[in-house]
Amino acid sequence: MPLTLTRDVLLKERTTLRLGGPALAEAVVSCEAGLDELARVLPGLGGRPLALGAGSNLLAADPPHALVLVRAANNAPAQIFKQQDGTTLVRAGAGLRLPRLVGFCQRAGLTGLEGLTGVPGRIGGSVAMNAGSYGVELGARLSRVRIWTPETGLTWREARDCSFGYRHFDPRMGASFWLIWEAEFILLADKPFAIRKRMEENYARKKATQPVTAKSAGCVFKNPQGLPAGMGAGRLLDEAGCKGKRLGGMAFSTVHANFLVNEGGGTAAEALELLEHGRAMVFDRFSLNLETEVVVLT
Ligand SMILES: Cc1cc2nc3c(=O)[nH]c(=O)nc-3n(C[C@H](O)[C@H](O)[C@H](O)COP(=O)(O)OP(=O)(O)OC[C@H]3O[C@@H](n4cnc5c(N)ncnc54)[C@H](O)[C@@H]3O)c2cc1C
Repeated sequence: MPLTLTRDVLLKERTTLRLGGPALAEAVVSCEAGLDELARVLPGLGGRPLALGAGSNLLAADPPHALVLVRAANNAPAQIFKQQDGTTLVRAGAGLRLPRLVGFCQRAGLTGLEGLTGVPGRIGGSVAMNAGSYGVELGARLSRVRIWTPETGLTWREARDCSFGYRHFDPRMGASFWLIWEAEFILLADKPFAIRKRMEENYARKKATQPVTAKSAGCVFKNPQGLPAGMGAGRLLDEAGCKGKRLGGMAFSTVHANFLVNEGGGTAAEALELLEHGRAMVFDRFSLNLETEVVVLT
């Protein structure tokens, strides 16, 4: 089926935080023909379209959302597309999980993405968020990205024509809705065992310092820029007394204070109240206004 439509989909079943009320519908597009069909049916569905990946960076409120969730289920596996001047271009579908791409690159002896080991998103969502970890931002490895809009259909955008920032990506197409369909990354050669070692080190570091198996959406606040090394949002929240702070089923993790975790039965109302509480506590203590990193759907 090029396009599958489901009505009344619960966001709590589509997000890693396991929070969020119903959306009007979900459109899952599995091939290019499905995109033409999507353009035809979208206007009649009545809601604003929202691209959805693994839902690992979303905090969705509890009441109903006038949204149509659009999933780019282009799960084309990673493949080497071209080799030139000592670099290799790897292409992957937007629906592929980022860990699958990182693993493929390791086996192929391609370095550049191992800093992102343990980031659980899909390629589309990870590019859209310019996911970053241990000094690597996905945007810095992007060569070009194929984007669909209802007005233009599918077009390739060179990375140099897009803008990137801290957890920010904009293809600069002037479209109100755009969907990443596939992406190409530019990587360098290295020995597979050396890449594997770095991946293992990165994952061990994450496991020791982050609640990697809890229900979370990763870091809820951005790290403020210009502070001394180690003074990230997690440390600020910790020193402001938020680590382990609970409200109902939600809590700032005892492992890493910048992770809001659903300990079971949590609600988005509790999550949003805790988030504002954390922001206020940090402001009172450090006169710093933490900026939200997680995408909040109200
Ligand atoms: C345990 C854990 C650890 C994490 N660690 C990190 C980390 O180290 N670094 C980091 O940066 N993030 C981290 N995250 C957050 C998250 O994994 C990344 O932001 C992730 O890459 C988002 O991908 P996703 O597919 O889940 O996107 P989603 O959460 O589904 O969506 C995020 C945003 O991208 C948009 N989007 C999704 N798919 C598309 C598409 N195909 N086209 C256009 N827009 C799209 C959505 O509309 C939304 O605005 C972590 C999350 C968890 C749960």
